[in-house]
Parts: sequence; C-alpha cells; structure tokens
Amino acid sequence: MKQEYEPRIADILKKASDRVPIDREEAVTLMKVRLHTKACYAIMEAANRMSRSEFGEKGENHFHIGLNVEPCPMDCLFCSLTRKAGIFKEKIEFSMAQVIAWAKQAEQQGADALNLMTTGTYPLNRLLEVGRLLQSETRVPLVANTRDINHREGQALLDAGFVGAYHAVRLGEGRDTPLNRQKRIRTIQVFREVGLQWMNCVEPVGPEHSADEIVDLMLLARNNGATYSGIMRRINFPGSPMERFGMISELEMARLVAVSRLVMGAVPKAHCTHEPHTVSLMAGANLFFPEVGSNPRDGKTDTGKGRGTGIAHCRQMQREMAWDPSRPSNCF
Ligand code: SF4
Repeated sequence: MKQEYEPRIADILKKASDRVPIDREEAVTLMKVRLHTKACYAIMEAANRMSRSEFGEKGENHFHIGLNVEPCPMDCLFCSLTRKAGIFKEKIEFSMAQVIAWAKQAEQQGADALNLMTTGTYPLNRLLEVGRLLQSETRVPLVANTRDINHREGQALLDAGFVGAYHAVRLGEGRDTPLNRQKRIRTIQVFREVGLQWMNCVEPVGPEHSADEIVDLMLLARNNGATYSGIMRRINFPGSPMERFGMISELEMARLVAVSRLVMGAVPKAHCTHEPHTVSLMAGANLFFPEVGSNPRDGKTDTGKGRGTGIAHCRQMQREMAWDPSRPSNCF
C-alpha cells in the first residue's frame, strides 16, 4: 500500500520501532501531527505494536487509594483538594479498616499494585504506618504517592514495604503549583539512589500546553528510567481556575499516549493513561488506575462513589481491547 504521509515521519517511526531513542526534535515533530491523519494513525499503530510486543499483552491495573481529603494549602491550580477550590472544608482521613477493606478487595479483583496517595501536608509517618499494615494484610506491591522526600525518608518508605513511588514533575510546575521543579527532580533521583522504582505520568495535560513542554517531561521520564510514564489529562472540576482552557479529548490523549510510548522506547515496563478509557489501549497504553478514596479530580470525598472507575470495569475494557489483565505484572 502506498504510504501517504511524510517520509520524515516514517523515518522517525522506523527509528523508534528499532528501539533507537528518538531525540527532542523528532518527538516534537511527532507531537505536531494532527488527529485524523494517516500519519497520526501510523504513530498510534507503531506505539500499539511496541507495547504489545514488549508487555506481552498484559493489561495492568494499579489501584489508587487516596488516603485523605483536606483543603490542601499547596493550592495547585488544577487540583480539587485545595483550600482555594473550597470544595472540601475539613480534613478527613479514611479509617485503617476502610483502607484495608479496599486493599483486600482490590487484591481479590486482581490489582497489580496499590498506589497510596496523600495530599501535600499528610504526615509521612502516617503513610509509613499504612504501608506496614497493608504489607502485612496483602501481597500486592505498594507504591507511594506523596510529597518530596530525602534519602532517609526514601529508605523509610522501603523499610515500610513500598517498592516504588509515583512522583510527577507536573506541567506548569512552579507556575500552576507552588512546588519547585528542581526539588521534584531531586526526589526522583533519591528514589533511584535508595532503590525505589519511580513511576510517572506526563500530567495534567490541557489544551494550553505546548509540544515542547510536554516532550520535555516525556524525555525526563525516559532519561530517569521511569517504570512507566504515559499521559493523564487535566479534569476541570466545577469552578476550576483552569476551566477557561478547556480539556483535551480522550482521542487527543490517545495521540499523546502514542507519542510518549515511542519516546519511552525500551525503557518502561508498562505505559499508563488516566482516566481509564478505551482508545488509548490501541495507542500504546496498557496500564489503568482504578480509584477509590480521595482524588484531586473529584468533588466527592470517595471517588469510588464519584469519577473513579472500578477495577472490574478497567479489566473489562482491557479484555475488550485484547489486553489480558489476569497475567502477572511486568512492573515489579
Ligand atoms: S496536587 Fe497535591 S500538593 Fe497540590 S494542592 Fe492537590 S493535594 Fe495539595
């Protein structure tokens, strides 16, 4: 069949498919390919093929448990758990009994990991306690999602049973958040130095983000050996200061998932997208995050009763797209 897109795109796809790392300029070229073009479908096809051959058709589900809700003083503009958003007025911590029940149910339903998320000022000691408890109650690998940490705290996470940590340098870090980009990158280095796996997603993507800034974070993930690093879009909660920018569609997310997959090359063990949806499963994604507890995209205290997608639904979507969630995880 005649190839009806630029030879330049074909060259980049060939290079990526040969597992030769593509450079910044090549990644930006892919980012500029428009939806509904043959080149766009070629990018998605290459990413899909790469993931299916490297991940052995495994569909991953890393179960998010948001441990607490509070009006977080960090006031990141895209987050519903902030003081400024005014959605949550008081601090709520889910009980240990509830967290254990969620974790056990997730284990029974085939979760490949438990991602424990806290808000910005949640005490690390408390997270360590939850980790120790869950380690004794389930056999599912534990991943922490918390504030910046130092080496001593990284070691403490390991000692408490965590095998990895999710930590993103967010789009607009330092502009839309009060947090320091370099400090976040130092934390990622701490993970590597103490032996925690680093999990990442390029997030929270909105229509206002440039190809350059998105590619910058894709390359950060590849260069620092992320276990996975896909794409999460920003969800604008009602009244969000980011509402004026709108949101990207799932189809647009799938395009970005594909580009990020090609950038990641031979590095990752899985490729994520959030929130769970089908189209990215044919563009290189194989990893979903089912959710309960707090969620920075939701106005409900327990996202399991709000936006959060359950694990059974995630697995069903994966099966429909010929990913097998019952195989063992490739990530740990
Ligand atoms: S993203 Fe995290 S640190 Fe930022 S406001 Fe939300 S909970 Fe706080």
